[in-house]
Amino acid sequence: MWCEKVTEGDRNQRIKLDKAPMSGNKFLRKLSKHSLWLLIGLVTGMTFVGYFSPIRELTIDFFTGEADGWSYFWVGFFTLATYGNAGWLREQVCIYMCPYARFQSVMFDKDTLIVSYDPRRGESRGPRKKGVDYKAQGLGDCIDCTMCVQVCPTGIDIRDGLQIECIGCAACIDACDSIMDKMDYPRGLISYTTEHNLSGQVTHKLRPRLIGYAVVLLTMIGLLVTAFFMRSLVGFDVSKDRVLYRENAEGRIENVYSLKIMNKDQRDHTYLLEASGLPDLKLQGKREIKVAAGEIFSQPVELSSAPEQLPSSTNEVKFTLKDADDDSVHVEAKSRFIGPQIR
Ligand code: SF4
Ligand code: SF4
Repeated sequence: MWCEKVTEGDRNQRIKLDKAPMSGNKFLRKLSKHSLWLLIGLVTGMTFVGYFSPIRELTIDFFTGEADGWSYFWVGFFTLATYGNAGWLREQVCIYMCPYARFQSVMFDKDTLIVSYDPRRGESRGPRKKGVDYKAQGLGDCIDCTMCVQVCPTGIDIRDGLQIECIGCAACIDACDSIMDKMDYPRGLISYTTEHNLSGQVTHKLRPRLIGYAVVLLTMIGLLVTAFFMRSLVGFDVSKDRVLYRENAEGRIENVYSLKIMNKDQRDHTYLLEASGLPDLKLQGKREIKVAAGEIFSQPVELSSAPEQLPSSTNEVKFTLKDADDDSVHVEAKSRFIGPQIR
């Protein structure tokens, strides 16, 4: 909406521009608006994909044409999704797609702060001249200017009561307050208030529902913080090569694996790699691996065993990764060691 305002002007200017025939000025304004929307979409898309792929490399590869196909697909998908949802669909997302409105209506009670119109003060609504004794004419404070409806992004009339489409943006409060100021009436005909307040009753702040929500929320925050501090600072993934096994020049059975080590810490780490699970298991390849802060390191390694030492054609093996400087950091990953059929 901000992009729209800086490129096409306020609501009235936009309506005028839409009605005007196409011209160089109109084309440039529309082009700037859509370009800005797409740019925001692209930043969103890159950020989303950056959660799964190192973002510095992704950004460089993306713009130099070196990124893989999936990166282009997902960045493109999220760019267009943001462009479509935020630029074109807007409040339709809030009304039809977002579960928040449905969810929050379940959580409401008569003491919940909501955007509300005060019908006891506003009705009967109707136009009048400023300064006249409208109360003598049986009118309330609402001058029926419909400003609150015009500014509502979801197009509802808050004077009809609370509706599921209301996203609580408070645009109607500001609009109505400005009308009240012009009419020299007190502000707050539409305000953040509770149903109990509106009906002249007392609003209860501390109530079982609120305490229940607070307990649930605090428990969730507690679990999140615990999970955050207990998370492992190293990620370790092992996948076996598609070739089942091969026999080397010494007659030993070899299996190849691909290791992926993710250093999630802010500093560089050196890890020590070990393999176990079979009596005659030998690990070939680098055993001491240095991974820079925030990097993902991939490396193939080979395990080998004498065929007569294999208990079965499919055996479980275990890779262990230890931090060279910190014994408490150690992760394991299981895989299979495949050998020839044993008769
Ligand atoms: S708070 Fe926003 S969405 Fe709700 S009625 Fe007012 S303007 Fe409309
Ligand atoms: S903006 Fe205020 S005065 Fe105007 S119609 Fe809405 S509630 Fe009534």
